[in-house]
Amino acid sequence: MKTVIENYDVVVVGAGHAGCEAALAAARLGLSTIMFTVSVNSIALMPCNPNIGGSSKGHLVKEVDALGGEMGKNIDKTFIQSKMLNCSKGPAVHSLRAQADKQAYSNEMRRTLENTENLVIRQGEVTKLLTENGKIKGVVTYSGAIYNCKAVVLCTGTYLKARCIYGDISNETGPDGLQAANYLTDCLKELGIEMFRFKTGTPARIAGNSIDYSKMEEQFGDKRVVPFSFSTDPEEVQIPQQSCWLTYTNEKTHEIIRNNLERSPLYSGMIEGTGPRYCPSIEDKVVRFADKNRHQVFIEPEGLYTNEMYIGGMSSSLPEDVQYEMYRSVPGLENARIVKNAYAIEYDCINPRQLYPTLEFKNIKGLFSAGQFNGSSGYEEAAAQGLIAGINAAMEIKGEEQLILDRSEAYIGVLIDDLVTKENHEPYRMMTSRAEYRLLLRQDNADLRLRKKGYQVGLVDEETYQKVLEKEQRIDEEIHRIEHVNIGATEKVQKLLESYGSTPLKSGTTLAELIRRPELSYEAVEPIDEDRPDIPWDVKEQVDINVKYDGYIRRQLKQVEQFKKLEAKKIPEDLNYEEVGSLRIEARQKLEMYRPVSIGQASRISGVSPADISVLLVYMEQYGKRRGKE
Ligand SMILES: Cc1cc2nc3c(=O)[nH]c(=O)nc-3n(C[C@H](O)[C@H](O)[C@H](O)COP(=O)(O)OP(=O)(O)OC[C@H]3O[C@@H](n4cnc5c(N)ncnc54)[C@H](O)[C@@H]3O)c2cc1C
Repeated sequence: MKTVIENYDVVVVGAGHAGCEAALAAARLGLSTIMFTVSVNSIALMPCNPNIGGSSKGHLVKEVDALGGEMGKNIDKTFIQSKMLNCSKGPAVHSLRAQADKQAYSNEMRRTLENTENLVIRQGEVTKLLTENGKIKGVVTYSGAIYNCKAVVLCTGTYLKARCIYGDISNETGPDGLQAANYLTDCLKELGIEMFRFKTGTPARIAGNSIDYSKMEEQFGDKRVVPFSFSTDPEEVQIPQQSCWLTYTNEKTHEIIRNNLERSPLYSGMIEGTGPRYCPSIEDKVVRFADKNRHQVFIEPEGLYTNEMYIGGMSSSLPEDVQYEMYRSVPGLENARIVKNAYAIEYDCINPRQLYPTLEFKNIKGLFSAGQFNGSSGYEEAAAQGLIAGINAAMEIKGEEQLILDRSEAYIGVLIDDLVTKENHEPYRMMTSRAEYRLLLRQDNADLRLRKKGYQVGLVDEETYQKVLEKEQRIDEEIHRIEHVNIGATEKVQKLLESYGSTPLKSGTTLAELIRRPELSYEAVEPIDEDRPDIPWDVKEQVDINVKYDGYIRRQLKQVEQFKKLEAKKIPEDLNYEEVGSLRIEARQKLEMYRPVSIGQASRISGVSPADISVLLVYMEQYGKRRGKE
C-alpha cells in the first residue's frame, strides 16, 4: 500500500471540547487545519453530565465566548433548560448553567466545524508524532498515513490507553464504548514526556418512564433566560424548558454501598488512576462524609431525543448488581430500568508542568496540548484550554505574539497558571475559590475584559469589537452621570427609601451614593432618577455592579497592581539556578523543574519561599548588570 502523505499547517488530535475550540481557532485564523477523532459521530461528545456551565465553569464559557470561541454559541442553540446559580450571593459567584440536548449539541458543533473554511475533519487514530531537532514535524495515523505540519495540538481527553471499569468488569475502550487510543502514549514517553494515569467516573443512565417523579422535587429553569454568548440576542433563548428533578440517597443506599465496598474497584485496587477530589463517586461520598445521612441526586434529561435520564451525584464503579440495588433504594427510582451502567474510566494524560503558559511543550517546539490530556476535568476547562492552544499554535506559525492570560485577567488565566505552576496529582476542576481576583473576573464582564484580546489575535471581528467599545463608553458615561446627580430629601425620595426599608435622607446626596446602599440598586432608584437615559440591560447591569461594589473593586485593583509588577519581572530563559548561590536546595530543584517565565510565577511554585524570591531578585539584578556590561 502506498503511504498517504498530506500537508497542513496545524494538526489537532481530538474532536472533544478542547479539540473543537483549538481547530476552529486555528482555521478561523487562516491556517489549514485537520482535526482527528476516533469517531466523527462523537464530535463534542458529553460523556458525563448533560450540562454546560455552573459555578466558575460558567465564567470559563463566557470567557471563551468573549475571546471568539464557540462553546457559548453552541449551547445557546441547543440548551433545554437554563438557570443562573448563586443569585442570592454577590455577582462574583453568579454562574450560568444550561442543560444541553447532548445529541443536538454534538450535531450543532459538527455543523459549525464542517462549515468552517480551512478545516478538515478526519476519522482516524493518531499513533505517532514526528519530530526533528526538538521541533514538531507531523503525525502518523494507524494506517501509516503521514500528515506533515508546523504545529500539533494534542486534545486526546479520556481516550489514551482508556479502560472502563465497573465491579470486576473492565473494557479497554474509550467512553460510551468508543475505541480507545492505545499507541500515542508510548511515543510521548519516548519523546521524554512525563505521563500520569488519572480516572473519572459517571453515573448510570435510567429510562425516564421507569422513574416516579411524584417522589421528587421538580427543578425549573429561569423565567428569563440569560444567553451564554454575548453575541446571542436574548430574545432567541426565551424557549419552553425541560425540568430536572431532585431526590436524595438515604441510609438504605449508604448501607448497600458500605456492604459492598470490598467489591468496588476503587477500594479493591483494580483502579490505578487518580480521581477528582471535587467530583467524588457516591462510594467516596459515603466513605468520606459518613456523618451525612443523605446526598443530593439530580435527575437530568440527556436530551429531547430520548427519555434517558442522567443520575447526577451518583457516579460509581460498583458491580452491576449493586448498582441496581443502590439506585432502586433512592425515592422515585424504586422501579428504575438502567439503560447504561455507571462506570469509571482510567486514561493517560500528562504532567502539565511540562508546558509554558502558552500551552506549548517546553521540550518540543510547535507541540501544544489542551483539555483532559493536561490533567483538568470538565467540558468548560477543556474548551478554554483548547481555544488558547489553538490561538497560540496559529500565532507561533504566523510569528506573532502568543496569548497568555494572567490570573488577574481571566479564569482561563487562573486555570492555565494553576496547571503549569502548581503540583496537580489529580484531575483539576475549576472553582471560584481558586480565583483570588474573582470580584474583577465576573462572568457578566467577560466581554469587557477579553473582547480586545480576541480582536488583537484576530478571532473577534471589527464590528463586535466596536460594540464592546461603545458599551464601555456608555457604562462610563452613565456612572459619571449618576455620580453627579444630586438627590435631595424630597417627599418622593423619602417615600421610595421607606419602601425599601432604607434610612431616610437627612441632607442631599448623590444617586450613586444611594445605589451603594445594600437595600437599593440602580433599578430601585429609577423612580427618582428623572433624566435617566434609555440604556441596554447589560449596561445597566455593569453600572449597578461597578457603583455598588466600587470600594471592593478599587481594593482588588490595587492588589492586581502589585501582582502585575511581579508578573512583569521576566526570568531570563537561560538563567542557571545552580549559579544562584544562596537559593535553598528544594527551591533550586523546583525552579529548575518548572523553569518559570516570571518572578510572579516563581513565587507560586510550592517549595519556593518568599526568601528564595528575594535571593532570585538580587541575583537577577546582578545578572542584568553583568549582561549589560557584555
Ligand atoms: C466516564 C466519564 C466521566 C466523566 N465525568 C466527569 C465529571 O464528573 N466531571 C467533569 O468535569 N468531567 C467529567 N468527565 C470529563 C469530561 O468528559 C471531559 O472533561 C471533557 O470531555 C474533556 O474534553 P477533551 O476535549 O479534553 O476530551 P474528550 O472530550 O475526551 O475528547 C477527546 C477526543 O480525542 C480523540 N482522540 C483521542 N486520542 C486520539 C488519537 N490518538 N487519535 C485521534 N483522535 C483521538 C477522541 O476521539 C475525542 O474526539 C468525564 C468523562 C468521562 C469519559
